[in-house]
Amino acid sequence: MFPKKTIRDLDVDGKTVLIRVDFNVPLEAGRVADDTRIEAALPTLRALLDRGAALILCSHLGRPKGKPDPELSLAPIADRLSELLGRPVQFAEDSIGESAGEAAESLQPGDVLLLENTRFHPGEKANDPEFAKSLASLADVYVNDAFGSAHRAHASTAGVTDYLPSAAGLLLQSEIEQLRRAVESPEHPYVAILGGAKISDKIQVVERFLELADRILIGGGMANTFLAARGLDMRESLVEQEALGQARDLLEQGSEKILLPIDLVVADEFSADADKKVVPADSVPDGWRALDIGPDTLERFKDEIRTAAMVVWNGPMGVFEFDRFAEGTLALARELAESDAVTIVGGGDSAAAVQKAGVADRLTHVSTGGGASLTVLEGSPLPGVEALDDAD
Ligand code: ADP
Ligand code: MG
Repeated sequence: MFPKKTIRDLDVDGKTVLIRVDFNVPLEAGRVADDTRIEAALPTLRALLDRGAALILCSHLGRPKGKPDPELSLAPIADRLSELLGRPVQFAEDSIGESAGEAAESLQPGDVLLLENTRFHPGEKANDPEFAKSLASLADVYVNDAFGSAHRAHASTAGVTDYLPSAAGLLLQSEIEQLRRAVESPEHPYVAILGGAKISDKIQVVERFLELADRILIGGGMANTFLAARGLDMRESLVEQEALGQARDLLEQGSEKILLPIDLVVADEFSADADKKVVPADSVPDGWRALDIGPDTLERFKDEIRTAAMVVWNGPMGVFEFDRFAEGTLALARELAESDAVTIVGGGDSAAAVQKAGVADRLTHVSTGGGASLTVLEGSPLPGVEALDDAD
């Protein structure tokens, strides 16, 4: 059973509900470039509107350093949300204070108000009680549906629950239920695939997967750091120097479980139309950088997927945003779609990659969260969930 109250337990008729959503979406030229995360919030919003609530939505966007940054305004998201919901969405120029207070005051059942980026205030990340209290003062009830932010104890994800009755939204609940399967009933052979660029953020999970999984396939930027830790000269490739020591320890602990690329697609510059060639992993030419896994590595990784009963994937195998370096990532996504295994994908860019490959609906679960999904897969608690009221 889900351990926390959910929106099904709330009486919201005539009430104003503050909802923490994850609208940390990519913007391009002032427009929403990918609305997956907005779509993912709609079931909760619709359910609460149908039951007579007025909604106040809040979210962070990017990393604005505790002060207003016009580039990171949520205003474009209000427009997109309004199109998707098919009703007007008001926008408040601040998440607390007069503009938010006045707009909240005049809300009627069925109205929707989106607040400006919560991270324009330093109190958001600091989980400052005053900021949390100001946010809470806008509404009668709090709902957390921001799975992608639930691994952080911030004012809008955790602090606010000190001042309002609270519950989980439908997205938060379903993400956790899906991901917990991988921790509570892992099926073997269990294959973890890790890649991407946020290496120091993710390297700890390799340790956890050494206990949980039977095989760990490492590609993408993450693999470069591991190859460098093996003493290879990765030339211009993305390597996180601070993580080398940790990578070396992990290789010592898990040499028989960890598979690294044996060949790489290298580029003469970091660009979409760079010259490319395939080289053995130990022979990146001077002045070149690895931007994808090579074909032999891909075959090796596919073999592992074919025999797996459960596959967890976080982080692309290369710079899939460039078509010339997307093959490793897209081919792996297609292999996952073919597989009979339980297939779970987490991470914003990884989710975008399976969308690009056109296979998202053939996987068991595609998570909207990156860090949050890894936290659940590690078996660690999520502060944003812990803070919610317990189920009766
Ligand atoms: P996720 O969002 O799925 O958690 P990350 O944010 O950690 O994944 O990493 C995704 C990014 O990693 C993508 O933008 C991709 O271009 C980049 N990336 C993958 N492989 C490489 C590489 N070899 N060199 C540089 N960047 C890479
Ligand atoms: Mg990412």
